[in-house]
Amino acid sequence: MAANMSSSLVMRIVSASVAVSNRASQIIRDVMRKGDLGIVEKGKNDLQTEADRSAQRCIVASLHKQFPKVSIFGEEDESFVFDRPRLHRPHFALPTISRPLSSIQNTWTQLGPEKIPADFIELGFSEEVLNHKCPKFLEDVKDEQIVIWVDPLDGTAEYTQGFLDHVTVLIGIAVDGHAVGGVINQPFYNYQDKSKVMGRCIWGVCQLGAYGFTREVLPEDKLILTTSRSHSNRMVTEAIEALNPTEVVRVGGAGHKVLLLIEGKVHAYIFATKGCKKWDTCAPEAILHAVGGTLTDMFGITMSYGPQVKRLNAGGVLATTSNHQYFVSKVPEHVLENLEKSESPEPLPDGVCLRGDNKNCLGEVREEPETEQQPEQQMEQQVQQQEEVPGSPKGSESPSSDSGVAKENLDTKL
Ligand code: AMP
Ligand code: MG
Ligand code: MG
Repeated sequence: MAANMSSSLVMRIVSASVAVSNRASQIIRDVMRKGDLGIVEKGKNDLQTEADRSAQRCIVASLHKQFPKVSIFGEEDESFVFDRPRLHRPHFALPTISRPLSSIQNTWTQLGPEKIPADFIELGFSEEVLNHKCPKFLEDVKDEQIVIWVDPLDGTAEYTQGFLDHVTVLIGIAVDGHAVGGVINQPFYNYQDKSKVMGRCIWGVCQLGAYGFTREVLPEDKLILTTSRSHSNRMVTEAIEALNPTEVVRVGGAGHKVLLLIEGKVHAYIFATKGCKKWDTCAPEAILHAVGGTLTDMFGITMSYGPQVKRLNAGGVLATTSNHQYFVSKVPEHVLENLEKSESPEPLPDGVCLRGDNKNCLGEVREEPETEQQPEQQMEQQVQQQEEVPGSPKGSESPSSDSGVAKENLDTKL
């Protein structure tokens, strides 16, 4: 449907983000079905796939087209992609393709690789979102107050290893540095249950609520914590052990872990180390706030999501639906000290930045604004570079070996 211009800017962005996240989720499923994940290593234990790249092109180009004055920051910097070797294919058996490839292969071959495929541009809106009244405090927000943080595929390590329900698409909307709206799209939700529709979209706005999921009642006689399965270390483990949990759920993705929280499956998400970035936490934080929860760093300090903040959440991540201060008080002193002095994982990611106010990521006026490229042109250029670089080596062995997913279900569901 066309966006109702009488809706507030924030509600129109949330509404468009729901539609765009559905499109990005389809792209992520299509790349998996096609089978060549195009994996490159961005840094130590930090991967990027064709699904990350394509989903980001779709989200950033689509939102920029509709909201050209709004700043959009996305995780995936593609500038280095084409001079690094493809690392490895997923080691699990890829699903067979059970129906003709739709979007990705067709668009790249038919529309020409020099353009973002037309069907990557999603200009639709979610009517469900627009039917909700905008909270008063967001009614008059202007473009220049907003930053959109995009993690096109959260849980990339798990995506490459076949833990598909850990994967989410995250679009977070910050106003004056506060996370106020968000979308968490889970492309492979229910993929192991053939009788159910695959994928779901959860969205929320502070002081309005969050939608698209059902909430369970947490058992009071247990303490269930969730944390990283692929980026854990001794400090993470020690922060968890200090709480003496009855159960620890180790899963991928910040988005997925916050889903477990809002669904009432875990009491807290603990990540007492550096590594998570603003695009990992903006959407989850907004949705968590919308249901009365809290997300801070391990010191209990609120994150800021303005255009000039550091991408890295240097103080770790602590998220809860209740009793947040209790969890903060239980973080051992030596864990906090370690967070203060520990090094960031290298390289520090900057991601991609499109500032609506024509400034660069640091807030400085760009030197040559009159020759500045539109994002579509930038992306065209990246795609052209891809074409010019001779084929990268592909298909070496994956270093990891801990799959465990019933892949056969994918054959029929994808
Ligand atoms: P995880 O819980 O391990 O899935 O991490 C949540 C998010 O933070 C994912 O997007 C990860 O890629 C990112 N992340 C966490 N730790 C690191 C790290 N050491 N290096 C790179 N990314 C990280
Ligand atoms: Mg992420
Ligand atoms: Mg990501």
